[in-house]
Amino acid sequence: MSSLFPLSPSPVEEFNFAGHRLLVKRDDLLHPQFSGNKARKFAWFLEHDFPGIKRLIGHGSAQANSLYSMAALARLKGWHLQFYVDHISEHLRLNPCGNFKAALALGAELIEVGAQARREGMNLESYLQQHLVPTLGQDCLFVPEGGRCGYAEYGVAALAQEIAEYASTNKLTELKLMLPSGTGTTALFLNKYFVEQGLDIQVLTCALVGDDNYLKAQFAGLGAQERHFPTILSPGRKYHFGKCYREFFEIWLALEKTGTQFELLYDPLAWILLLDYMDAHPDARVLYLHQGGLLGNESMLPRYVRKFPELAHAAGLSLER
Ligand SMILES: *Cc1c(COP(=O)(O)O)cnc(C)c1O
Repeated sequence: MSSLFPLSPSPVEEFNFAGHRLLVKRDDLLHPQFSGNKARKFAWFLEHDFPGIKRLIGHGSAQANSLYSMAALARLKGWHLQFYVDHISEHLRLNPCGNFKAALALGAELIEVGAQARREGMNLESYLQQHLVPTLGQDCLFVPEGGRCGYAEYGVAALAQEIAEYASTNKLTELKLMLPSGTGTTALFLNKYFVEQGLDIQVLTCALVGDDNYLKAQFAGLGAQERHFPTILSPGRKYHFGKCYREFFEIWLALEKTGTQFELLYDPLAWILLLDYMDAHPDARVLYLHQGGLLGNESMLPRYVRKFPELAHAAGLSLER
């Protein structure tokens, strides 16, 4: 069977960490600009023709991985990206880095509408749904935050197919596939594929944004039935999305020693929960999905170094690097 996705397949590597042997699927290596999770979710747009489309419209944080991926997609397609954000912090404006800087370099236009939305008592998404989306012409393509939409299923199913082929070629049974969730779109469409194909591959995930019930509501919002839902691993405490936690930095620094860099926003919690899972299920065959997003580390890492200078120092990291 050939893959649906021209940038793939991405490699699978053997991985040893914290006394466990597992596999890592390197979706971070798909393409230098168009990689990871967002490349899969936006593949449908990359691979189809959209005659008459001139503008791609998105929204989210000014540091988001999706901002960079959408800027890369727009560049590949010859579109202009307009990306709506709440606001651009003074610090970022004066010290552009990471996804923000790279997206600007690809010609993205960022538009701040947070203050206006708040004046009308709305969040960014409902503000755009009410005031922007109805005004968009035939030449505009609007993509919901983080690619949370049915179009994402196309590229994610291609990823699921690659994983299924890998498992079958390597005679891996009862495979567990772990990946962290934001909107949950990737984890849901992966698991849905395995359920519908009757494969014994189980998706494990964890909620980074909101709690487990929020994540289930996101799954349901994508039109899925409960039998399609991935298994959610829960931490024993509450973590706020985007905040810096000591244990996140510690596990990320430990992962650095493997020679493979992971990202700092989603991966640390997933690895903490996965190590617990593997301790409890020592015979489980596990594949971790590396979903890219490494450019975002340029803005996250300095925050961690400032908050935990002693950990950074012990690891030989400094802000001057
Ligand atoms: C966007 C992103 C996620 C979250 O993906 P969802 O499909 O929204 O759950 C996870 N990891 C990385 C690196 C991402 O860029």
